[in-house]
Amino acid sequence: MADSLCQLGRLFGQRQWCLGTSGNFSARLDDSQFLITQSGKDKSVLTPDDLMICDLNGIPRNSALRPSAETALHLALYRHDPGISAVLHTHSVCATLLSRTADSSVAFSGYEMQKAMTGVGSHEDTSVLPVFDNTQDMRALADQLHAYLVAETGTTCGFLVRGHGLYAWGRSLAEARRHLEGLEFLLSCRWQEKLAGML
Ligand SMILES: [Zn+2]
Repeated sequence: MADSLCQLGRLFGQRQWCLGTSGNFSARLDDSQFLITQSGKDKSVLTPDDLMICDLNGIPRNSALRPSAETALHLALYRHDPGISAVLHTHSVCATLLSRTADSSVAFSGYEMQKAMTGVGSHEDTSVLPVFDNTQDMRALADQLHAYLVAETGTTCGFLVRGHGLYAWGRSLAEARRHLEGLEFLLSCRWQEKLAGML
């Protein structure tokens, strides 16, 4: 699992979705612990030594290591749904720009790429990506995320943090990757449509 997570981190890093040590990635190991990137690691050259194990209370197995500052958001997802196996977070230019112009959500309809999201069977469906305001208080943001997930109908697989970036998750690392890539594609389309005056 560590190698797969590093491979994905390097790929996303090389796509410039995680410049300047931004972004973070995690994968569930079992019912009580998960692997997560350490704080301040360059994702474009990620190795297993840059990962660490935390339990579902956020306590590192090795107390000398410091997990990502946004571990609370990963924890909120793993605690909310035991079926979530991986959580991926990127800071792409398009996701960051679009999140600054959006209201409380971004809705997509008419894009074939929406079908990258599990549960979306047609481009005619409407896919909603919630947007939360950024804060340095990750616990408060985690509480907001939890409240949203409890209230929604169960099809959400990602969210934006305003002026910050994108989170996506899945029931496997492969599904989380598909969701993240699909959402990044849709956000890039939407931003370029705005620039072209199509919206
Ligand atoms: Zn971030």
